[in-house]
Amino acid sequence: MNRWADRVAARAKRFHPSVCIDYDALPGDAAQWIAFTGGTPPRECLPTTALLTALNAAWDAEPEALWYGDPQGYEPLREQIARLLAERGVCLSAEEVLITNGAQQAIDVLARLLLEPGDRVLVEGPTYFGALQVFEPYDVQIEAIPLDEYGIRLDMLEDALARQPRPKLLYLVPTFQNPTGVTLTAERRAELVALADHYGVAVIEDDPYGELWFDAPPPPPLRAYHPDVFFVGTFSKSIAPGLRIGWLVAPRELIGTLTDIKESIDCQADRLHQRSIARLLAVGWYTEHVASVRPVYRRRCQMLERALAEQLTGWARWTIPGGGFFLWLELPQNTDTDALLPKCAEAGVVYVPGSAFFTERTPQPSMRLGFSTLPEEQIVPGVERLASVVRAHVRPSLVS
Ligand code: PMP
Repeated sequence: MNRWADRVAARAKRFHPSVCIDYDALPGDAAQWIAFTGGTPPRECLPTTALLTALNAAWDAEPEALWYGDPQGYEPLREQIARLLAERGVCLSAEEVLITNGAQQAIDVLARLLLEPGDRVLVEGPTYFGALQVFEPYDVQIEAIPLDEYGIRLDMLEDALARQPRPKLLYLVPTFQNPTGVTLTAERRAELVALADHYGVAVIEDDPYGELWFDAPPPPPLRAYHPDVFFVGTFSKSIAPGLRIGWLVAPRELIGTLTDIKESIDCQADRLHQRSIARLLAVGWYTEHVASVRPVYRRRCQMLERALAEQLTGWARWTIPGGGFFLWLELPQNTDTDALLPKCAEAGVVYVPGSAFFTERTPQPSMRLGFSTLPEEQIVPGVERLASVVRAHVRPSLVS
């Protein structure tokens, strides 16, 4: 890279890997690790047969899908997405939907629309590292607003909104958040959109996990509370991330520009996969599939919570997610989970340290534990390994 230093754009230095940790360089036998690092559906929840059947049918019915076309996305799929969101209380039409290559691209397309160098961008603290990856190259000022068990802290959000220059964007994952699993309450949702409206700040609601609830559905998306909220969705967590089919919902008058932005990047999303997913949605398969995977994640999360209660009460505290793939564990304030990671790797367990979820990447006393990909029989031994390292290296007294 040095040879290129005066040839590449200054922006190049602001791109980071999703997690700035080299797991390959950690000690221990990686093949034996119990990895709480995952954030995808496990192999057994990938609906390979249904996808193959739908893909064959789409291919047979419309081989022309192999050409260019539909830069905004396949209309029947956009209609099905509008219907799914209507079931969650969001009133919209297919014209307000743009299909993207996953939620990640939707965030980038919106960033291209909204951001200029120097803009203030508010995110949750901690936030999804992939959003930091998108925003950082735009040379913006990223500020983290702390969360509590009810979601982003509105008192601190309002302080940040009131400060000049006015923030340009508020990005958040209000439902079963990555990385904490926390969900913003209905009361805070209403207040948050009113605040954003009052201060004239764009809101991106990133919602990959909203359908993956355990016992009860979450409150309606923020977009149900205000039509200006940009909603980002994806089939990556509910079906499979390799499909790369996501979408954004935006006010009608912006969809043309957003489609031009998307087209400038990669012309269109995969037309065959859009058609196969539209077929699956049209026959009610999707609803059944999501209903069948919810108990898998609920059980893994409950097993994790139970094991933590047995092994780490008094040493740590953790969130109790109502859905999604992640739980957030906090150790006493002076703990550095970056420094603890090699010790855990040696003991045969790995996680994502809290530092990955803040733009400064400074060490934190926290970690993200992903439970979705772990076979049930690994959860208790994984927590036992983690607890043995914590007990050996952390002083317990500081945790309430
Ligand atoms: N947003 C959040 C909060 C996520 O957790 C993820 C997946 N890790 C994404 C966006 C990216 O999803 P996709 O695969 O649809 O690009």
